[in-house]
Amino acid sequence: KGVDATAVPVADARPVAGGKALQGTARPVVSPVDGKTVVGTVHEAAPDTADAAVEAAAKGFAAWSRVVPEERARILERIADAYEDKQDDLMALLAAEGGRTLVDGLAEVREAIDFCRYYGAETRRVFVEKVMPGPTGEENRYRHRGRGVFVCISPWNFPLAIFTGQIVAALAAGNAVVAKPAEQTPLVGAFAVRLMHEAGIPGEALQIVPGDGAVGARLVGHRRVAGVAFTGSTETGGKINRALAAKDGPIVPLIAETGGINSMIVDATALPEQVADDVVMSAFRSAGQRCSALRLLLVQEDVADKVIDMICGAARELTLGDPADPATDIGPVIDAEARDRLAAHVARMETEQTVRFSGATPDGPLAGGTWFAPHVVELESAADLTEEIFGPVLHVVRWKARDLDAVIDRIGATGYGLTLGVHSRIDAVHRKVADRLPVGNVYVNRNIIGAVVGTQPFGGSGLSGTGPKAGGPDYLARFAQEQVVS
Ligand code: ADP
Repeated sequence: KGVDATAVPVADARPVAGGKALQGTARPVVSPVDGKTVVGTVHEAAPDTADAAVEAAAKGFAAWSRVVPEERARILERIADAYEDKQDDLMALLAAEGGRTLVDGLAEVREAIDFCRYYGAETRRVFVEKVMPGPTGEENRYRHRGRGVFVCISPWNFPLAIFTGQIVAALAAGNAVVAKPAEQTPLVGAFAVRLMHEAGIPGEALQIVPGDGAVGARLVGHRRVAGVAFTGSTETGGKINRALAAKDGPIVPLIAETGGINSMIVDATALPEQVADDVVMSAFRSAGQRCSALRLLLVQEDVADKVIDMICGAARELTLGDPADPATDIGPVIDAEARDRLAAHVARMETEQTVRFSGATPDGPLAGGTWFAPHVVELESAADLTEEIFGPVLHVVRWKARDLDAVIDRIGATGYGLTLGVHSRIDAVHRKVADRLPVGNVYVNRNIIGAVVGTQPFGGSGLSGTGPKAGGPDYLARFAQEQVVS
């Protein structure tokens, strides 16, 4: 069935500190689906409010850090239960505020639940005190403690799953958290924080500060901040890194997940039907607004015409429309700025390269939404794509059989290393590609949609992030500080 956001109980996001609402500047949150429905109101924090939230969290840390890992794990599991309970409401908000289709919204709620349950289990495994042998007669107790206040800054493209994953990881490790949702999706974040508080996270240990990049910068710059988890663009990740480096005092760890120019290599042994299915899914699902989404398809010339025709044919079948309607494949892009940036890119491609397919956008009552249809652009050279284009635009280049090494080098030269696809029936090709490129997630003979469950480790290297992988066995420990008592 479809979902109705007007039935959702929480349609208000405001900064809170210690459970008390703080001052904020009210702004309506308008749905990207039609450009006019007001989904709710956000009270955006002023910079002073951001400071107050960090200071309140510092007090909250003192109490939260004394909560034993077993109890923290149980609270995380209660958050998962609360999300299960509110699955429909969360999906409705994801559709109305974030333009997320029902398929995407459901997957996202399930991923968030997976994060809570998996990190709950990991809390019991990783943070149990270990006794290690020392010199004769001496015992070393190896333990972890929270670092202090962690600032968690998240993007709009997974406003529930990424937002939740960062926060529960930091809390599980014993930190207090100040979370800043993306400016486009504060309502989902506020709802999630309410559920976390109700599940037992103390008010002071988890603060939410809605606001824009300036508020994020203010949070990052606060002297009491002991760690930052960030997911967003490579450019902003770099800014945060430089801001942290410029601060006096202790070195503050940054866990960053950033962008990618995700590529897929297809050789002549690949199955064209499977390639086309996987490419359409990887490039256009979620309107291409996934960090893992396919941007650059490198297809061997012998099969190129067939593969490109099949992709364009399949793209033509995709339905753009109301994300809360089960028949919809693709919802709007997040806002007018994103749409305009995509339109400018395609306009440039029309003069410089060959646009092979342009889809149609909805008219009628949804015409005022921020729509951008799937496009397929054939490039003369892979070097012509130098930046991440965050939306449903697939770029295709052809390569000659003898040039596989050059193709691999070209992908490496982008400096990004998030996802990579290989379609080939030759094992040696899979191995060569994975060995030569330091890409975080390599997908063989399948789509390159990233973490489909919260427990499939996901994350990149180089310009794509610092690691460790979210949903992986090394994630939680990075949020904590080790201590040895001998
Ligand atoms: P996008 O292009 O997806 O909007 P951004 O990297 O700009 O990606 O945004 C991701 C998150 O980072 C958002 O919550 C945004 O408000 C925040 N942000 C933007 N600029 C800064 C900054 N200078 N310092 C801290 N956070 C920032």
